[in-house]
Amino acid sequence: MSTPTIGVFALQGDVREHRAMLEASGVATAAVRRPGELSGLDGIVLPGGESTTMYKLARAFELFEPLRAAVRDGLPAFGTCAGMIMLADHIEGGIAGQETIGGLDVVVRRNAFGRQVDSFEEVVTFEPSWSDAFDFPATFIRAPWVEKVGDGVEIVARARLADGGVRIVAVRRGGLLATSFHPEITGDRRIHELFVDLVRRG
Ligand code: GLN
Repeated sequence: MSTPTIGVFALQGDVREHRAMLEASGVATAAVRRPGELSGLDGIVLPGGESTTMYKLARAFELFEPLRAAVRDGLPAFGTCAGMIMLADHIEGGIAGQETIGGLDVVVRRNAFGRQVDSFEEVVTFEPSWSDAFDFPATFIRAPWVEKVGDGVEIVARARLADGGVRIVAVRRGGLLATSFHPEITGDRRIHELFVDLVRRG
């Protein structure tokens, strides 16, 4: 693969930040709002935002089923925060009728960290099987956490919380990667580079 092109779901969420991080990581990017814009992509990012709105807009723009089919057929995808919720097979705390693209056999709890801590920073430990381990300063905004992982889902990162709890905050299966937090707003490209690495490996 020469220069991969990674699409960014652009109906809602922090699209610009993801495109900037991806481009700085050496790939081309494209905004995805319509089903036709899925063709020719080597990967896709589902940004942070609001998963219920993303779901409704994806349905309204007839992007939901084509995106689900593309992911099912093996398109690598990286979901951050609301995007993690979109990639989860099962969600807790969703609104009535909220559906996901799915692909990751995990249970994700929306807004899991509680109202008092709408937004916070925490250093999380990454231990990806396809790269070296590192610590990452993560920004969580009304973030989900991963409550349960199914067979074949790799736990990539955990957060150690102030209350002593340990939570799963990054998971991966094949070319699907998801984080509870927002690596796109930190100026630190290491998580995007992990995804680009998965895309390049095919
Ligand atoms: N709480 C949001 C949701 O459920 C996610 C928040 C975010 O992406 N920062 O979709």
